[in-house]
Parts: sequence; C-alpha cells; structure tokens
Amino acid sequence: MSEQQVVVLGAGMVGVCTALHLQRRGCTVILIDKGEAGGETSYGNAGIIQREAVEPYAFPRDFLSLFNVASKRDTAVNYHLRALPQYVRPLFHYWANSAPSRYGAIAQAYRTLIEHSISEHSVLIEQSNAHDLITRTGWIQAFRSPHLLDAASRRAERLSDYGVTSQTLDRTALQAQEPALQNTLIGGIHWLQPWCCNEPGELVQRYLATFIRLGGQLLRGDARTLRQAGAGWAVQTEHGPIEAAQAVVALGPWSAQLLQAIDYRLPLFAKRGYHAHFTGGATLSRPVMDAEKGYMLAPMKRGTRLTTGAEFAPLTAPATPVQLTKVQTAARQILALGAQLESTPWLGARPCTGDMKPIIGPAPLHKGLWFNFGHAHQGFTLGPVSGRLLAEMMVGEETVVEAGAFDAGRF
Ligand SMILES: Cc1cc2nc3c(=O)[nH]c(=O)nc-3n(C[C@H](O)[C@H](O)[C@H](O)COP(=O)(O)OP(=O)(O)OC[C@H]3O[C@@H](n4cnc5c(N)ncnc54)[C@H](O)[C@@H]3O)c2cc1C
Repeated sequence: MSEQQVVVLGAGMVGVCTALHLQRRGCTVILIDKGEAGGETSYGNAGIIQREAVEPYAFPRDFLSLFNVASKRDTAVNYHLRALPQYVRPLFHYWANSAPSRYGAIAQAYRTLIEHSISEHSVLIEQSNAHDLITRTGWIQAFRSPHLLDAASRRAERLSDYGVTSQTLDRTALQAQEPALQNTLIGGIHWLQPWCCNEPGELVQRYLATFIRLGGQLLRGDARTLRQAGAGWAVQTEHGPIEAAQAVVALGPWSAQLLQAIDYRLPLFAKRGYHAHFTGGATLSRPVMDAEKGYMLAPMKRGTRLTTGAEFAPLTAPATPVQLTKVQTAARQILALGAQLESTPWLGARPCTGDMKPIIGPAPLHKGLWFNFGHAHQGFTLGPVSGRLLAEMMVGEETVVEAGAFDAGRF
C-alpha cells in the first residue's frame, strides 16, 4: 500500500480542504462522511471568514460575567445542568488557559493561522468558481451602550498591531452602512477585512466539486468503523471496506467519540449553537452582531440567518433552543425580521479544545493517523489553512505556519 493513499474522515470545511490539499500534493484521497459534504456544522454557521479573529474566545474570568453566565442572564450562553460533570475537565483547561499568563501565547499561535484565512480561501474560491457566494464588505459588531462601544473601539485599535483593519461607527455611520437597522444600536466596529458567505454549506460543496473534478472520491461510511489493518487503516463504507496507508480524523465535534474509542483523552467539548432564518422583513447587506445580546444576524440566500451563542450540552442531548427564543426578541428590536422560516431551528456544535487552539498534526499513539479538528468558533475560517498545514506535515514539506503549537501532544 502506497503512503500516498489517504482516507479523510469527515467532509466538513476542514475535511474537504484537507482532502484538496493532499490531492494537490500527489496523494490519492478518499473522503468519507455519514452524510452530505458540508451538511453539518459547516452548513449552519454564520458564514464569516473571520480575518479579525486574532484572539480566540476566552472563558470569562471576571465575577460579573461568570455570575451572568451561571444565572443564565447572559443570553450568549446556556448550559444543561446535568451535563456539567462531563464538562468539568475540559472547562477547567479552558478556564486555566484563559488566564492572561497563558492566553497571550495561545493567541499568538492562533493568529498565525488566522492571518492566512482569507488568502487560503481565496485560492479555493477561485479554483472552485465560487465568487458568487462571497461578499467582501466585512461585518459589524454593534453595541447598545456607549461605554462598551468605547471599549470595543480601544480593542480594535490594539488589534491593528496584528494587521486587523476596522472602523468605529457612530449611530449615524452605522445607519449609513445598514439603513434597515433600528436606532436601538448606538454604533459598532466595522471589521473591514472579513469575507462573508451567503450559503456556507454550498461553499464546502463547491470545494468538494473541485476535489472530485480532480479525481477525488467521496464515499458514504461510518468513521467509527476505523480499524488498523496491517500497516495502514481500514474503514467500512457503502461500497465495502476501504484501506489506506494513512487516515485523517476531521470529524469536527464528532472527533471526540472516535478518539475515546481508541484511547485518547483529549480535553474536547462542544459549544452547541442554533440558527433559524427569517424572511419577508428588512434585510442587511452584511452580518451584524448584537454584541451585548450575543447573537448574529447574517444575510443568507434563504433569508436572514439568526445564529445563537454557546450552549454547553452534550452533542446528543435534546435541543433546548431557549437562547433562540430570547434573542429573537432582542433581534426584533434592531431589525424588522419578518417571519421565521423553519418551525424547528437548526442545531449544531462548535468543536472546542481546552486551550482554544485546533489540534492539527500526527496522532501521538498511532502511526499513519492524523488529526485535524477542534476549530471551535472559526472552523469555517480556518478550514483551508488547516488543510494546507496538515497536508504539508503529512508529505514532509515546509509548513505554512509553525506546526508545533497545534500538536496533540501538548495535552
Ligand atoms: C451557530 C454557529 C455559528 C458559527 N459561525 C462561524 C463563522 O461565522 N465563521 C467561522 O469560521 N466559524 C463559525 N462557526 C464554527 C464552524 O462552523 C465550525 O468550526 C466548523 O464548521 C467545523 O468544521 P468541521 O469540518 O471541523 O466540522 P463539520 O462541518 O461538523 O464536519 C464534520 C463532518 O463529519 C461527519 N461525521 C460525523 N460523524 C461521522 C461518522 N461517524 N462517520 C462519518 N462521518 C461523520 C459529519 O457528517 C460532518 O460532515 C460557527 C458555528 C456555529 C455552531
């Protein structure tokens, strides 16, 4: 079996980009997914390629924020009380790594990936003829309180040190950018560089179409059947067992299930999120976040997509879309939303790690097994550069960024 034969498990943004980058480097790649490519987390997100996200979401450490989360006053966060015991270990990692003494180095590594987010997507968008899905007018983080807008403006100024460009908008400037917004919002930060996608799942499918046009294959199968076979790996698919010298785990929030079965104890957890679409109302020209209420409104092909913040609950627990209900009231204060399209909201999960960085690199305990998951709030952004980084490591090329910071061995 040639080292160049690779099976990539999971056809979300991360898996498809990994497959494309391996293919570009001469590998014969089979993608395996239980469903459609880009049909899960990579479908349901807000579609922003977040060049401004040079600092990953830290765990709140001040008393007031913690109190608001614990008492469920903060609409950005919800949790299932019964799930908390299984969250203790990863949340402890998350909390400890959010301390200023550790967070600086984490953000420094994180931004090496973020810096390549637009440029790496750009190559694939061009190759996949997907310009029609993309707008290049940034997104707006909007505020209701002057002191929070001032603080955000100071932060934006600081982030300019990392090449992030933004403009602080007062109420008039915000209205000029997005005339449909009500004046409940007093201004915002316009992040100028990010690109936005009006159908995130379709972008993954366009990338997949490029992969298939260039000779790749997508097969339906269950990644949980992965087994070592001789010097390589085997997995069951609808077309029978597939064998390859190397396997990549790119299962997003489902990666944890597979890893537990093969004895990895990594601090992984899910931050669930919901969305619903609204039609027949006023429209936005770019995504707007109501920062103090913790939700995003993003213009999509299907209507305005309202996405919620984080819910700490197991992947398989029943949906509890209480945040969606709460923030819908807030959203109607800032935009005439129109009617909700779906009777059942979409539910997905951000695949998170205890130190906010994705895990990209070789599996410490198994030869020929590789990891690419844990991209949390920015997997749609980071799919292409992560795919490139892992492919370079697998074929022994010089890497686009320093890879050590993303190695699974750090836990
Ligand atoms: C509400 C919300 C808003 C977000 N907004 C943004 C944003 O604006 N920008 C951004 O960059 N990120 C955003 N994110 C995060 C982003 O969506 C994720 O980080 C990213 O989609 C993860 O991609 P992935 O390929 O790792 O996982 P996924 O897209 O979930 O792909 C994993 C794949 O594995 C497959 N799979 C699972 N189990 C099996 C199995 N047993 N066998 C075979 N296949 C299997 C699934 O079918 C799926 O296709 C958001 C997330 C949420 C929830």
